[in-house]
Amino acid sequence: MRYAMAIDTKKCVGCSDCVVACQTENNVPIGYCRDWVVEVTAGKYPNLEIELRSERCNHCDNSPCVRCCPTGASHYEEGGIVTVNHYECIGCNACIESCPYDARYSHPDGYVDKCTFCIHRVEKGQNPACVSVCPTNCMYFGDLDDPLSEVSQVMKNRKWKVLAPEAGTNPNVYYLI
Ligand code: SF4
Ligand code: SF4
Ligand code: SF4
Repeated sequence: MRYAMAIDTKKCVGCSDCVVACQTENNVPIGYCRDWVVEVTAGKYPNLEIELRSERCNHCDNSPCVRCCPTGASHYEEGGIVTVNHYECIGCNACIESCPYDARYSHPDGYVDKCTFCIHRVEKGQNPACVSVCPTNCMYFGDLDDPLSEVSQVMKNRKWKVLAPEAGTNPNVYYLI
């Protein structure tokens, strides 16, 4: 089992419904977020291209955040999902410093928080909240080890990229391009 998310940059319209859904589903405090939308402009005027994409923790296979955590609070769950045990986290913020994607934040209650791939929903057979609300259905979630899963199928048929591959973290969030 290897959970992954594929996000279609050609279909994202930048509405931020994914951000609001995540904040509601996961009680993210006001002023913080587990996911966010970026707009990247490439090319030279007048031949400009804009890419919109929803970003979050990449649930990396080789994650520095898990390696550097002094208490084991940051750890892998089944399927490679990276989560933080809030009760074991001492709030040292080493993981925040180590993440090349700036995917973690310091929760006002004294622990570090980030995207969990909505493991509480996935365990019940549901899609993550952000995936389920996207009005353009631009996000796909599932098991990359299953060749018949939706995420495997869409990645087989499209070109894709990961963010900051040079960081060597082996991300499990893919961007369809
Ligand atoms: Fe993009 Fe979908 Fe998020 Fe809207 S909900 S910003 S379309 S990923
Ligand atoms: Fe850790 Fe950052 Fe990778 Fe998420 S994106 S697993 S927080 S290194
Ligand atoms: Fe938030 Fe869940 Fe989406 Fe992660 S998978 S960004 S926790 S809604």
